[in-house]
Formats: sequence, structure tokens, C-alpha cells
Amino acid sequence: MRAAVLYEPHGRLRLEDVDTPDELRPDEVRVRTAAVGLCHSDLHVIDGRVVRPMPVVLGHEASGVVTQVGSAVADVRPGDHVVACFVVFCGRCRMCRAGQPAMCQDREATMRAPGEEPRLSIAGREVHQWTNIAGFAEEMVLHRNAVTVIDERMPLDLAAMLGCAVATGVGSARKVARVAPGDAVAVIGAGGVGLNVCQGAALAGAGIIVAVDRSPHRLALARERFGATHVVDASAEQDVAARVRELSDGGADHVFEAVGVPGLVETALDAAVRGGSVWAVGVFGDAARIDFPASHLHSGKGVHGVRAGSLEPQGDIPRLVEEYLRGSLELEALVGERMPLEDINRGIEALTAGAGARTLVVF
Ligand SMILES: [Zn+2]
Ligand SMILES: [Zn+2]
Repeated sequence: MRAAVLYEPHGRLRLEDVDTPDELRPDEVRVRTAAVGLCHSDLHVIDGRVVRPMPVVLGHEASGVVTQVGSAVADVRPGDHVVACFVVFCGRCRMCRAGQPAMCQDREATMRAPGEEPRLSIAGREVHQWTNIAGFAEEMVLHRNAVTVIDERMPLDLAAMLGCAVATGVGSARKVARVAPGDAVAVIGAGGVGLNVCQGAALAGAGIIVAVDRSPHRLALARERFGATHVVDASAEQDVAARVRELSDGGADHVFEAVGVPGLVETALDAAVRGGSVWAVGVFGDAARIDFPASHLHSGKGVHGVRAGSLEPQGDIPRLVEEYLRGSLELEALVGERMPLEDINRGIEALTAGAGARTLVVF
């Protein structure tokens, strides 16, 4: 099957014939990929900010149709439509048992062991499977807990985005921060995840939602389609935090950093009300450190890490599908462009340039 392979940081993705095993492990499923979203986390591996073994197939929000299941898989069948999500969980460790699969402590249990035939290879040489998914490929061999079966009425291309952008964004507002009706919320960064934080805050009934970004196009999207009540153009505004405080009567209750730039955490703290919370949703580089005045802590403000919006895939993804089918979840407006796998490098370049919200590779 064909897949886009990254051989080195800063390299271009190369379309290659990649082998998958003929035999599945008892706990695996084989999925014909329908669509995969391009996400900034993929870009972080390409630009070297996040260091991972190479060669690698990236792509971690995907959808598809199951074509084969392992002997121990009883609840997924060939023909099922699925979302493949990077929250792959063992189901047995302490955090999984506590209902927090996004914090799973034993992800190795969901991978093939060293010495076993790898899930992806070229001429016998292992190709790494990014986040246990590797969606930039026509076919995925996955642990059963990497997939969630969804309603077949759900369009498969839009479903791909439920695996990262939507789950992380909506979950950060609704599940992690528990935004309450009437709250004032600010979201720094209105890309695929940030727009969905706005959407999650709106679904939770926030009173004021301020979207901050440098792209007028994304800001318009935030206001027109994703529930932002106010927007701040960071390329034109001298003091973003002061502007957020002005719009939210002294500061936001919840400020989300959805870019992954360490300095923006301080901006977020400046924009928060006394006693307010900053939620670090963006993915920072491996070497990133965060620095801010300790006085913010004396103001009762806190900075909290967020992992995958505390996604519990088997429960949360079907709920998002239901919300989409009912008409209460916006997905189509996230899609900037649909393209075939052959064009993926152009999609990566557009992502680097910050165009559009989400690019989908459709198979
Ligand atoms: Zn992502
Ligand atoms: Zn676990």
C-alpha cells in the first residue's frame, strides 16, 4: 500500500510502497483509510521541534473502514466505519481503570514488541508508526483500542477530524476546563484546535468568547461559525492581554493557549482574571521551557496542562458524531481544502504558512 514517509527532519514526504503484515495480532484491526487531517503536531515532527525515530509515517487523525480484525477482537467487525485516534490505551493500567485513557501508562502494550514483524516496513526495514496511527497511508494496522466505531451516517471525511482537532478542542473546553454557562473565555490561536475550543466553550454556554489570532480569515471563521463573540487580531493589537481584559470585564475565567508558543502562556496569564485558569492545549517543542512572573500565582491564577482534551474515545467520539448529525457541531467550515495523498507536501506547506483551518487528505 502507498504511504507518505518522512526520512529526516525538514525533509519532504516521499510516497512509497509500504508493507503491512499479512497476519494480524489477536488484538489488532486493519483499516482502509478514508481520510486523514493534517495537524500541527505532524508539522512539529517535520520541522524537528519534536524528535522521533525515522523513517516514520505521520498522520494521527484518520477515519476509515475496517477490512479485517484479529482473533480476539469481538466488538469491531469488517465493514465498520471507524475513527482512528491517537489516544490508544491499554485498558488495564491505573489511569485506564480510572476512566482516563488519555493518560494511559502502558502504551507499549498497544504496540508491537521489538522483534515482532513491524506494522509498517519497506523491504524488511521498519518504518515507524507515529502515535500508533500513521494515517498518511492507504491502510492502517492498529491496536483495537485505536479505533472507535461510528454511525455510518457520519461522513467519513469529516469524521477524521474528530480524532484530534475536534476531540482536543471541544474536550479542552467542555471536559478539562469545565467551562460553565456565562463564563468569559479567551482562546489564543484559532487553528483547527483553537476553533474547536471556541466551539466547545459555546456548546458549554460561555457568555463571552474572545478568539485571538493573526489571520483575519481564521478570526472571521471563529466569529461566524464557531461561536466567538469577539475577535482580537494579534498582528494589529499592541497588547493582546489588555484587549482581552477590556472585553471580558477584567479578564477571562479561562484562557486557552492553543498555539504551542511558550511566551503565549504569559500572555494568557495576563489575560486571565484573578483566580482564573490558563489551559496549555498547544503542543510545545521537546526543548521548550515556560517562564512567567510568580506574582500570577499570588493572584490565584493557575496554569494547567491538557492532554488530548482528556479524550475518552469510546464515549466521546460517538457523542461528537451524534452532535454533528443533530446539527449542533460545526465541522464542514473547518475544512480549508481536500486533496489526494499525492499533494500532501503542498498541504504541509500550507500548514506551515498558516493557511486555512484544516486540510484533509481524502483517499
Ligand atoms: Zn493533532
Ligand atoms: Zn492504560
